Amino acid sequence: MPKKYQNLKFETRALKSTKNILNEVHAVSPPIYLSSTFERNLEGQYQEGYKYSRNDNPNRRALEKSIATLENGMAGFAFGSGMAAISAVFQSLKTGDHVILPNDVYFNVKLLMKEVFSRWGLSYSFVDMSDIEVVSHSLTEHTRLIWIESPSNPQLKISDIQGLSKLAHEHRILLAVDNTWPTPVLQNPLDLGADIVVHSTTKYLGGHSDALGGCIILKESGALAHRIQSIQIQMGAIPSPFDCWLISRGIQTLHLRVTKQTENAQKMADWLVEHPKVHRVLYPGLKDHPNHEIAAQQMLGGFGGMLSLLINGNEIQTLAIVNKLNHFRQATSLGGVESLVEHRKSVEGVESQTPDNLIRLSLGIEHIEDLIDDWKQALM
Ligand SMILES: *Cc1c(COP(=O)(O)O)cnc(C)c1O
Repeated sequence: MPKKYQNLKFETRALKSTKNILNEVHAVSPPIYLSSTFERNLEGQYQEGYKYSRNDNPNRRALEKSIATLENGMAGFAFGSGMAAISAVFQSLKTGDHVILPNDVYFNVKLLMKEVFSRWGLSYSFVDMSDIEVVSHSLTEHTRLIWIESPSNPQLKISDIQGLSKLAHEHRILLAVDNTWPTPVLQNPLDLGADIVVHSTTKYLGGHSDALGGCIILKESGALAHRIQSIQIQMGAIPSPFDCWLISRGIQTLHLRVTKQTENAQKMADWLVEHPKVHRVLYPGLKDHPNHEIAAQQMLGGFGGMLSLLINGNEIQTLAIVNKLNHFRQATSLGGVESLVEHRKSVEGVESQTPDNLIRLSLGIEHIEDLIDDWKQALM
């Protein structure tokens, strides 16, 4: 037994002998700092500012720096889920403020407004965000935030981020973009004039369907950043160090995955669009998409790994096709390495405005020929 432990009882030795001695071993892969609390030095200071892991944690700080860099922002904040990050943006507003959102916004955001923030006194309008005129007519003197999702979920509508940011700033309104689907590989909303970007890092950034997370990235590091940070720390919807580590690891291969997924989605869209049993393919990379030109201007790296299609048929026929697929696993969520398929209407429930015959695909990194073969047999 080492001398320093010789005079200590078992319980004390169990603690002393497991003390963190792993700092500065120059591991290539970063360690996971599970510690909930950090030691003060003799001068009463906390090393590197770490005090308590709800306030800040090395894995979380590393992730926040990374996402801020990828989105060309000044400040990044990580949360325990995409919805927690989205909620924090709305929590930064005050009673009486008005928000404009897309009428086909991610379904849980719709529920968040109706079930939670309406009781907090936020008012909101759901509008066709792909039409700037419509958005302009929906502004009120209380409007404080315009919320964009482009491409939208699950109809893949495109909103003009630059045009809408101009409109927002003329009226001193903030513009927020949910950039989960395109990822910073394909689209950087802050460069197009947005003030706020949010992600569900559960999806492409994590990329392996094994961690939940969300983040907010801000263009400026001023008053709004302080408010968001205060919500993050005081309301405490923070991610675990392990989830931060997993998402950081996912980011290392984000570019490779999204490039491949985008290539697969474009090829799948090009194939599906020719099939007689397919009524329409909703993908901004197709020339017949109503906002293909705007998408091409703002999605610099391609049109993304998500697409929806409308079957020539009713709900029962649509579900039968979904059930015949083998390589596309039937599950909610998206952005992982494996291809997923979903009949959105069944997931969204009775209030859903998604068509009965819509199928949503999240393309994975499989070989495209296997994926197309799967659709060939499912559409027979
Ligand atoms: C999944 C998703 C969210 C919600 O994220 P969670 O991590 O599930 O909370 C928000 N926006 C979009 C566009 C999404 O796809």
